[in-house]
Amino acid sequence: MGKCKNITRLLSDALDRSLSTGEWVAIRLHLPTCSGCRNYRKQIRLLREAARTMSGIFMPDTAGPCNSANLRRELYRSPGGVSR
Ligand SMILES: [Zn+2]
Repeated sequence: MGKCKNITRLLSDALDRSLSTGEWVAIRLHLPTCSGCRNYRKQIRLLREAARTMSGIFMPDTAGPCNSANLRRELYRSPGGVSR
């Protein structure tokens, strides 16, 4: 299935640039039929969130007060993290 290669590439491209409508449609049509690509999307989302969280920690100057509140909430809500 050569299509998966295409889709996963679009998914990672989406982090760096905006996709065209046609590209989103291709993804949306493909994801429900393919657990492999769904997993891939989940993974890159987690990676992206982790990267954002890290940059918030290491560059507090660029993250406003608002952001650090969000960050704290995200940390509490993160799966596998502290849950009361
Ligand atoms: Zn696929």
